[in-house]
Amino acid sequence: MDLEDDDLDALDAYRAIIDEVIAGRVEGHHCPACREGELECRFDGTRITISCPNCGKFFEGELA
Ligand SMILES: [Zn+2]
Repeated sequence: MDLEDDDLDALDAYRAIIDEVIAGRVEGHHCPACREGELECRFDGTRITISCPNCGKFFEGELA
C-alpha cells in the first residue's frame, strides 16, 4: 500500500475499512470522521478510493 503524505494520519482510522474493501466488501462502511455518512468505496485492483458523501472526507491509496 502506497499512500500520499496527507493520508498517513487517516490510515489508522481507515485501515479496517481498507482491508474489507480490498476483500470485496465495498458497502455498509460508516465514515470514521463524521460517523454519519455511509462511505462510497471503490477498488479496481490497484487503486482504492473511499469518500464520504456526508462530510466530504476523502481517502485514496494504491497497492504497491
Ligand atoms: Zn463523513
